[in-house]
Amino acid sequence: MVSSQQLISYKHETQQSISLYINGEFTSAAGGNTFKNMNPFTNEQINEVAEGQSEDINKAVAAAREAFDNGPWKTMKLTKRMEYIYRIADLIDEEIEKIAYLESLDTGLPISQTRNMVSRASENFRFYARMVESRLVGDAYQVDDEFINYTIHAPVGVAGLITPWNAPFMLETWKVAPALATGNTVVLKPAELSPLSANLLAEVIHKAGLPKGVFNVVHGYGEEAGDALVKHPDVQLISFTGETKTGSTIIKNSADTLKSCSMELGGKSPIIVFDDADFERALDACVWGIYSFNGERCTANSRLFLQEGIKDKFIDALKMRVANIKVGDPLDADTEVGPLIDKGHFSKVKSYLEIANEEGTEVITGDIPIEFVRGNFVGPTLILNAENHMRVAQEEIFGPILTVLTFKEEEEAIKLANDIDYGLAGYVWTNDIKRGHRVAHKVEAGMLWVNAQNVRDLRTPFGGSKSSGIGREGGHYGFGFYTEQKIIHVSI
Ligand code: NAD
Repeated sequence: MVSSQQLISYKHETQQSISLYINGEFTSAAGGNTFKNMNPFTNEQINEVAEGQSEDINKAVAAAREAFDNGPWKTMKLTKRMEYIYRIADLIDEEIEKIAYLESLDTGLPISQTRNMVSRASENFRFYARMVESRLVGDAYQVDDEFINYTIHAPVGVAGLITPWNAPFMLETWKVAPALATGNTVVLKPAELSPLSANLLAEVIHKAGLPKGVFNVVHGYGEEAGDALVKHPDVQLISFTGETKTGSTIIKNSADTLKSCSMELGGKSPIIVFDDADFERALDACVWGIYSFNGERCTANSRLFLQEGIKDKFIDALKMRVANIKVGDPLDADTEVGPLIDKGHFSKVKSYLEIANEEGTEVITGDIPIEFVRGNFVGPTLILNAENHMRVAQEEIFGPILTVLTFKEEEEAIKLANDIDYGLAGYVWTNDIKRGHRVAHKVEAGMLWVNAQNVRDLRTPFGGSKSSGIGREGGHYGFGFYTEQKIIHVSI
């Protein structure tokens, strides 16, 4: 827990303006432009952030290129490079409370939840260090008595990493760790709405003493800094997490310079609950899966399909649970749902309550205590009597709003679950294990959970199908993306 003295020091630190981190130095943006970083709980300014322009991207890419071509990073002994990676993990662990605080202040995510995310972030570095040490292996082929062939993995070059605001530190480290561990150099463009923890990541990496230019951070808007990174000819790959529409723009904009792109995009994931499911566990998972992270979770189970036999009982229980969710200050340890990231997103999420009314559904939404009116709060909401063709059942709302639908038979549930553009995740609750497997096989999504909520082992592949993404992160699945496979044919 944070002592009051620590809290004062964190508060003081967050008032400082945030710089870019280029070639091992903290620096202002070209032209000195800044933008305001706002607190979603009060809508007051937290601090100013250097607004990176294409000129800053050019500098950061040049530094990363130089570090890749002529620096020691890609050629140093693996054990030495991994020492740096383990050191980053240790330094993150020393700062867990501070990072959790910054993340909650910046995003409105409840501090009890950001703490868990930060421990996951240091594990991302350790995990990839271990993965590279043990699993970055090639193949060997004995062709005949005259030839052998073998493959090696070489780092690709400068990795452009573009991240969203909904779980910033965790998602940044999820990309930075494999990119660095495999020997690439990095330019990170974090989301403009959540710069605090990305700045701390730069401080941590600076402290870990990585060679100059290996890791760079350029804050700024997507359309300027992000766009310049995507189009830069010296950047070999773009790993992107964010909205589907942005992903599509990035793929188009990266085509002229022929980059490989990894896309982790939006979702509208189904949770299917059969009559025979373990009622309490399914209820817990359903509530947690949509209302934790303020509903701003890519894998949120935002569409609930209830079988007709348990529909009434489940909805009654949901109403009780939702009415008791504690909405409040994200820095309060008891808070379960905090304010949404910014006013723009707040208006978008709110607009879906009107859309739900226009579409003729029943909307049950919690009141916000009067003392929190300055914040971007939308109360935990249930949308009942919805139909699958409605916008509230088809579009990613990305807030604490659960759309509830019903079904009679297994085949109908699968058909409804698949009748959507997205395909990120899916959840099945049934005590008939054969049916659990069957449905999981048929739901069109990259990640399925059967009688389990959204918890995953870092070794497993992460990613979506359809409009939810291209490629997979996690485990050794990212090796193909962050490394260039070469085949060596040798005459013996
Ligand atoms: P966003 O697409 O608006 O922004 C993401 C990042 O892209 C930001 O850094 C932004 O500045 C940058 N960007 C915007 N336009 C750009 C452009 N033209 N060129 C280059 N960069 C550009 O997404 P968001 O609102 O920050 O995040 C929420 C979205 O992210 C949701 O749709 C959510 O489902 C998705 N998400 C997906 C996953 C996943 O793993 N599939 C994980 C988390 C979030």
